[in-house]
Amino acid sequence: MTLTMQDNPLIPSQILDQITDKTCEGLALALASDDDGAVMYLQWCNKAFTKITGYQAKEVIGKRGTILIGSSMDQGSHLIIIEKLMNWEQFSLKTQNNRKNGEQYWQKMSWTPLLDMATGNRWWLCSLIELENRPDLQAEGKVPGLQRADRDLLTGYVEKIERLEKENKRLHELAKVVAKESKEDSLTGLSNRRHFEVELKSWIQDLQKTGRDFAVFYVDLDRFKSVNDTLGHDAGDRLLISVANMLRRLTSEADLIARIGGDEFVILRPLGSSALDISSLADAIVQEMHAPFAFEGKSTFCSASVGVAIANAQMEIPEQVVSDADMALYHAKSNGRGRWSFFTEEMHAEAITTKRLVSDLLIACEKREFIPHFQPVIDAATGKIAGAEVLARWVHPTMGLLSPASFLETATAMGILKRIDEIIFSYLPDALALFDSAGVDVPRLSTNASAGRLADPSLIHDIRRSGVDPKRLIIEILESVYLERIGDVVHWTLGELKEMGVAIALDDFGTGHASVQGLLKINPTVLKIDRQFILPIVDDATARALVTSIIGIGKSLGMKIVAEGVETEDHALFATEMGCDFLQGFYFGRPMSSKDLHLKLTENNGVFWSGHALR
Ligand code: C2E
Ligand code: CA
Ligand code: CA
Repeated sequence: MTLTMQDNPLIPSQILDQITDKTCEGLALALASDDDGAVMYLQWCNKAFTKITGYQAKEVIGKRGTILIGSSMDQGSHLIIIEKLMNWEQFSLKTQNNRKNGEQYWQKMSWTPLLDMATGNRWWLCSLIELENRPDLQAEGKVPGLQRADRDLLTGYVEKIERLEKENKRLHELAKVVAKESKEDSLTGLSNRRHFEVELKSWIQDLQKTGRDFAVFYVDLDRFKSVNDTLGHDAGDRLLISVANMLRRLTSEADLIARIGGDEFVILRPLGSSALDISSLADAIVQEMHAPFAFEGKSTFCSASVGVAIANAQMEIPEQVVSDADMALYHAKSNGRGRWSFFTEEMHAEAITTKRLVSDLLIACEKREFIPHFQPVIDAATGKIAGAEVLARWVHPTMGLLSPASFLETATAMGILKRIDEIIFSYLPDALALFDSAGVDVPRLSTNASAGRLADPSLIHDIRRSGVDPKRLIIEILESVYLERIGDVVHWTLGELKEMGVAIALDDFGTGHASVQGLLKINPTVLKIDRQFILPIVDDATARALVTSIIGIGKSLGMKIVAEGVETEDHALFATEMGCDFLQGFYFGRPMSSKDLHLKLTENNGVFWSGHALR
């Protein structure tokens, strides 16, 4: 729809009269704001205008004038347009522009200010003439489309920008040179990393020559990132500067202080006559950092952790002292932050153990040194086996059978837990066949799935390929894992599993603070109450009340309830009484090899408990 001029009562007739006088091409009228000529709202346009720009009238009416500035328009022309509009000057220029669909074209654009005498309103008449070719730059003095005064103005801009860019580049290069030569960290004025390394070398040479021991303090702020994120980078900078000042205050001339990373500081201090010198400095740093840090009226806390190590003449590789201090720092952090820790040989041993574990685990995956063990899950109503939980064991070449406690954390950190889950899963078809051969119905095997495994579509394919009836599988998801990673792929996996008939169990329920809403979203078939809640139910009424309410929630959502950690007959009786559908725990059997479970099944014919009859 194209508005005719008479359609819009906003347009005074005398303005209309002026238009016919002044233009013959693509035309648009815009009502300018009172105080800024560059701010305008389009009110009308003619047919030629819609043809050139590709916008229909209804698409431009009411829009800001910026709709007339396409992305291909050079910045110089844009600046000129703004400048002229602001000064209510009539002008025209040749520029490149874009149609609605992005197509580029050359145009001559003219702007004419109009005044409505009656109201004082100011209008802009914009006229567009499409040019067939790029305007002749030579004739226009290399600047497309500009008249002399504009061209001078634009040349001025361009020169200014070029000058600034040159200046900027020069400063950058200068900064690089200065940084290379400088010993100082520019923010805090402390030694920088480069200078620290040079100094460390000379302290070590000195140690080897004269036997002068020294201490290395590795200081790391505990919540620096959050200060940056919540209070802004200026606050972060201020914090670093105040830490630097504090360190200066606590040290003496003989010490060297350096900032070697974002929020990492190192101090070298000669070992005086008293070891107290060392511990009191570490103490003081930690204490000072316990005070709140204020920035522009807001305050926050940012504690620091410190690791300390000593370089002595007996050390084979004195350079090691920095990583020793770093290791001590790591300990301070893992013991709760806001504290300091002295490097000990045990830390070294521990680090070596972890390193070995990492490489051993890689080999173990390669050699498939993991096997499943099976722990029976009992139907509380019948005492018969209702299934078994599959639990990973590592058949370690020298240390024997290891349970997940000794490798799970490291495997998770390494990102290979998913691989272990895959290996364990590959045993399930044979295990099921073995249990079936005992002539006992073992309805379902439930296996634990790590977050990585759930986020990997290969889980679905593995199940399909395994030939195992999906209705005989339960996938256990840790409540915490579910809460952390409910990404799209996990959603997809869960949906697909349900579709196939695989049951979902929410593991360790009660430990991860899943909301009822979260619970509804995942909608598991089974809730497993963590053993920490089951263990006290015999003696502790509060624990019983808690378990009762967990059971209530689960049941009201139509879920089956498993009690974990059933260690005694009393546990079994209480849990059953309170409404648990299934029971699992040492009382009925520890996790065992498939062979042992098979044997057990042939012996007891699948009946693990007659206590249910006691009730
Ligand atoms: P979970 O899934 O909660 O498994 C139950 C754990 O409780 C097992 O420890 C089991 O041996 C232990 N348990 C069973 N009954 C009792 C009892 O009556 N009393 C006590 N005190 N403990 C009992 P396990 O086998 O050491 O496994 C520890 C955790 O490692 C498992 O906890 C599970 O989260 C994880 N895990 C085990 N196997 C795998 C696996 O193949 N993949 C993944 N991703 N995680 C696994
Ligand atoms: Ca489990
Ligand atoms: Ca569990």
